[in-house]
Amino acid sequence: MSYQSLDNRKRLVRSRSGLRVVSIENERSSPFEIGEPFWVPDSESPSCGKCHVKFDFLNRRHHCRRCGNVYCKNCCETKLPLQRMCFVDPVRICDQCIEVTKKENEFYDKHLKVLLSGSHFNLDEETGSGTLIPIQCCLSKDHQALMLDGGNLWQHNPVYLTDIVSVRVLGTAGNSGLSNIVGAVIRFFDFMKVEKELRICLTDVPNRKQSVAWIHALQKALKFVTPGA
Ligand SMILES: [Zn+2]
Ligand SMILES: [Zn+2]
Repeated sequence: MSYQSLDNRKRLVRSRSGLRVVSIENERSSPFEIGEPFWVPDSESPSCGKCHVKFDFLNRRHHCRRCGNVYCKNCCETKLPLQRMCFVDPVRICDQCIEVTKKENEFYDKHLKVLLSGSHFNLDEETGSGTLIPIQCCLSKDHQALMLDGGNLWQHNPVYLTDIVSVRVLGTAGNSGLSNIVGAVIRFFDFMKVEKELRICLTDVPNRKQSVAWIHALQKALKFVTPGA
């Protein structure tokens, strides 16, 4: 393995599948990252894992970079970005892994950006006073935690994605999708490992749609969080 340093936190690593940008050893990596799979040895795969054509001098083995299984060229032809494994260039993906890889890439290209740019909400503290506190929510740059900022009125410790138990959407679910959403309840473990909840409500200022998209993106993100990352 050879590498060169990019900045203080990332380095470029050359694996057998291509260049990857990874966090330096003592930095927490993004909870969305996954490691490269175990490559099934050539000796254990006499034929293609999908169409079962026998491998020989003309029919060569190809490893899927997403699952590590061995396929013939026809069944493992597609090259896609594999952002969860931090590859710089598109890599070979088997037919079975195309769908999941596309979903993951959609998350990186769309939902992750929504989370990082953040959104406005009203915090409902349920103190009985009926007071809603305007707060800003965004994902931290290192993808580790939700940053919740209520200015002078309210401050909160970062909520780590790996500590979130559930995100329950509030509202009535209609056929029209997300239009009836009024907010969400985020349940999580605080730094004392006590389960708590935060109730965030949509606000029209500046943009209700953006807040809905942010909650939606948070739900997507939790599906991709690797425990203990
Ligand atoms: Zn095949
Ligand atoms: Zn695969």
